[in-house]
Amino acid sequence: MDLEELWKAALGEISLNIPKTGFNTWFKDSYLAEIKGETVVLATSSNFAKEWLEKKYHHYILRALRNLMPEIKQVEYVVIAKVSPEKPENKLVKKVASLAEEQLNLNDYLVDTQTHLNPRYTFENFIVGSHNELAQAAALVVSQNLGTKYNPLFIYGGVGLGKTHLLQAIGNKIKKDRAKKVKIRYISSEKFASDLVTAIRSQTMEDFKKEFRNLDLLLIDDVQFVAGKDKTQEELFHIFNTLYEKNKQIVFTSDRPPKAIPLIEARLRSRFEGGMIADIGIPDFETRLAILRIKAQEKQATLSEDILEYIAQNIQKNIRELEGALNRIIAYSRLKNVTPTLAEAKQILSNVLTKPYKIVNPKEVIKKAATFYGLNEKDILQPSRKKDVVKPRQVIMYLLREELKSSYPYIGELLGGKDHTTVIHACNKIAEEINSNPELSQEINAIKDLIYSL
Ligand code: ADP
Ligand code: MG
Repeated sequence: MDLEELWKAALGEISLNIPKTGFNTWFKDSYLAEIKGETVVLATSSNFAKEWLEKKYHHYILRALRNLMPEIKQVEYVVIAKVSPEKPENKLVKKVASLAEEQLNLNDYLVDTQTHLNPRYTFENFIVGSHNELAQAAALVVSQNLGTKYNPLFIYGGVGLGKTHLLQAIGNKIKKDRAKKVKIRYISSEKFASDLVTAIRSQTMEDFKKEFRNLDLLLIDDVQFVAGKDKTQEELFHIFNTLYEKNKQIVFTSDRPPKAIPLIEARLRSRFEGGMIADIGIPDFETRLAILRIKAQEKQATLSEDILEYIAQNIQKNIRELEGALNRIIAYSRLKNVTPTLAEAKQILSNVLTKPYKIVNPKEVIKKAATFYGLNEKDILQPSRKKDVVKPRQVIMYLLREELKSSYPYIGELLGGKDHTTVIHACNKIAEEINSNPELSQEINAIKDLIYSL
């Protein structure tokens, strides 16, 4: 009998003796790695599985193996991450991801070499919602009243929320409306800093200064990166003053308000604050959906509404990620030449979404956690005080509280009529223990994975 046959036969016997859920969870990736004399080496795919087999099922495992091969006396448990041959779906997902990435960078070649504007960022394709309406309105005003209304305009907001888009939209509008007469330059503050260094090294500072001081519209992106760079700040300050005195427009973006940028000179900060400050927040669901619709349209893709809604529900804090998810689905549909279904879309996005959108109900939490601990739901709900039930029960209370925000009395009721003070005690205990016990925190993460897996 070879190792594989031996293990198969043993599994057959083991499965008769332990609960099916536990069997499915803990034995599914196990295999016999080798036999060393009287010891068999049993490989598992994770520390969890190893501990579980060793602590709870060792007895069954050894007995089953000995029934088949009496000379076996011991089992050694090891963790070997299984290198499974790449599944075809995984390959597809990877290909889709790289195509989607390309999509996102597409059109970059359209960037104008003089102004550094990318024509894809316009006001027309910028969706306005309550999260950005002030910033959008201010940007529009600036583009209609160059240098005379809000100067400078300072736009701030988190990553991927549309700052660069809006900044470039101002430039593109001016460029379109007034053709060649207006000198525009878009630049990120990092590029500004590195160009400055180059200019100093190559002794072309005069050209550098001249280029910026002759502008009608200067668009500086991500100005927070000037923090701590004294020379850059100094140069920027002088350029600012020159432009400002000539009523030339300057617009800044930053990931935070001027007050919160560390290590900048007071005089520069006060310049940032001297005009109009507008922030961009996080778009609501309807706005996210509208953005997805316009992006899908731009990419000439027809996707079902439920897919767009699924994406909008799942990605909330970053529009770039929202677009990335959309690109993946479009890439998939082009690659396979199909109109993807919601199920396919979920599959494609499964590794993009860290916490998949899923409404979990308390019953499910109890069931999944019980499975994890190799228990039946009934064991949890009955008033047993046995240690191997008490702890799982406390973990469940904690999860119901943390994940579903259930009330303490309701949790008590769900778990077989426990008093709410018992629930509070359990939740606090687990919350505290997580900090000092990494194993427990790992365990809870594993249960969360089970709960949220689709
Ligand atoms: P930031 O500069 O704030 O990190 P970007 O301006 O680069 O973010 O925006 C990220 C992506 O999201 C871009 O592709 C942009 O076109 C898109 N985007 C952001 N906000 C909007 C919006 N309101 N309407 C349409 N597209 C948007
Ligand atoms: Mg940006």
